[in-house]
Amino acid sequence: LQAKLISAERIAAVGTLAAGVGHEINNPLAYLVLNLEGVAQSLEQGPTGLAEARARLDAAREGAERIRVIVRDLKVFSRQEGEDRAMLDVNAVVVPALRMAAHAVRPRARLVEEFGNPPRVMGSESRLGQVMLNLLVNALQAIPEGSPERHEVRVRTGRDDSGRALVEVSDTGCGMSPSVQARIFDPFFTTKPSGEGTGLGLAICQQIVQSHGGELRVRSEEGQGTVFTVLLPAAQDAGFQEAPEPEASAASVA
Ligand code: ADP
Ligand code: MG
Repeated sequence: LQAKLISAERIAAVGTLAAGVGHEINNPLAYLVLNLEGVAQSLEQGPTGLAEARARLDAAREGAERIRVIVRDLKVFSRQEGEDRAMLDVNAVVVPALRMAAHAVRPRARLVEEFGNPPRVMGSESRLGQVMLNLLVNALQAIPEGSPERHEVRVRTGRDDSGRALVEVSDTGCGMSPSVQARIFDPFFTTKPSGEGTGLGLAICQQIVQSHGGELRVRSEEGQGTVFTVLLPAAQDAGFQEAPEPEASAASVA
């Protein structure tokens, strides 16, 4: 019954997405088509139009890229479970996401990494990596550009009291009101201008974390900042020897 309920919920989520997805894709698609027409017009002007054509082409590519991201995000909901599951070192899942986000974080905040010794988990590296990346992107988007000395994005890994793997992504950004907090996991809920947010990130994060038997928690205060905590059950594999707990190291990389 439990499994049936879960799969019914997934179908409902996909249904919710299907209703909104046409609208979500339509805007960047219109933008893409408009700019391709611009390219054609600029090229008709001959050599004097080349710079303009180039600019329009870049804009068109942006539109296409945006559609690609939406489609990629949506695919997560329909993907079958269990295809790329493996025993994972949680720190090794966090590192590539950090690397990808680092250059975008830097103009806004110091990036602080605090790697502890989380237990190994059984899961999908690509999907869990996507969770980390989504949380990092949200954290940096919550912080305005221009005063990186006053802001911080912090990623901490470790284990919680009940032995679960823990990844915390915190920021000193805008925070959220209780009414926003109540809706952040709804598909397509966003407070960002169109072009910046699809509103899919956290819905997907939650779906992925729950499909790993984990929990995604949030703590936020308006004007102060936000902490997202990912909790994942330790892999039940006797064949994997847990390393003894070393001292956590903290390092600032930005
Ligand atoms: P998107 O980022 O595309 O808007 P998400 O599902 O990732 O969609 O997030 C939904 C909303 O949750 C955001 O629009 C924002 O209002 C809020 N939110 C998420 N993360 C943070 C954060 N770190 N700080 C403040 N608000 C956040
Ligand atoms: Mg987001």
